[in-house]
Amino acid sequence: MFDTLSDRLSAVFTSLRSKGRLTDADLDKSMREIRVALLEADVALPVVKAFTQSVKNRARGSEVHQALNPAQQVVKIVNEELIGILGGETRRLRYAKTPPTVILLAGLQGAGKTTLAGKLALWLRKQGHTPILVAADLQRPNAVQQLQVVGQRAGVEVFAPEPGSGVGDPVKVARDSIEFARRQQHDIVVVDTAGRLGIDADMMAQAVAIRDAVQPDEILFVVDAMVGQDAVNTAQAFKDGVGFDGVVLTKLDGDARGGAALSVRHITGEPIMFASSGEKLEDFDVFHPDRMASRILG
Ligand code: GDP
Repeated sequence: MFDTLSDRLSAVFTSLRSKGRLTDADLDKSMREIRVALLEADVALPVVKAFTQSVKNRARGSEVHQALNPAQQVVKIVNEELIGILGGETRRLRYAKTPPTVILLAGLQGAGKTTLAGKLALWLRKQGHTPILVAADLQRPNAVQQLQVVGQRAGVEVFAPEPGSGVGDPVKVARDSIEFARRQQHDIVVVDTAGRLGIDADMMAQAVAIRDAVQPDEILFVVDAMVGQDAVNTAQAFKDGVGFDGVVLTKLDGDARGGAALSVRHITGEPIMFASSGEKLEDFDVFHPDRMASRILG
């Protein structure tokens, strides 16, 4: 992901470096090229505008004109502004004062929620926590079983409706899971909710009902970084519908243009907290805006 964007930006910087002193015309040309590169990488227009405006304001100021190496100074500004668009600081998970900490996962079907639940559980377990996974996705016939498989791989218990108990009520399952966690001394509850292929009023209402029943400490919106511009609309719909505290980007190992991933923080105002980059449970980490910016700028 981001390969084309990285190549384009690196071409802009190479051309700047060949110039020595930079005129305003040189800077304007570079800003136009950066703008086109971002738009072609699927970065949302308001984000491109905000980004290029800040870079331009700073690049025309004295920090570039007085620099010994003006091109290097522009690269530094682009790097800093990119980190800013990606959220600046890493936002850590907030744990409840009184356990269990409740984490609710929301997102479209196929976004990677169930896989993410397993990744998060393994990551938490490695840090000494005792999480459980909760199967509150009772929409898809094999969703419970899929979560059980993931839970087994992560080495954590899965709280699910009794087999043969019918479809079940996801709100009740979620509510009961908190009581179960308290009794069994699990300090974290990760609730997987049902997604649909697109934004859907029933899905949103169910997520809201589960949210109200479990009063999560963190609601994480899980989004597939491969889906392009649509990710931004989906994020906005979830923000308005259920609300969320943080974003998890999945499938960062894919070969999409990646601009949506760069837009979601700025558009929703909520931090990207985790990044998922593969099908294995270990392909998961806390999101670091500075590392992502370095990766893009090469
Ligand atoms: P859910 O419907 O949101 O629960 O999504 P799933 O967890 O079932 O994931 C949908 C598909 O995406 C599955 O085939 C996963 O193996 C795959 N997947 C999930 N996360 C990643 C990731 O980070 N990278 C890649 N390449 N595939 C992923």
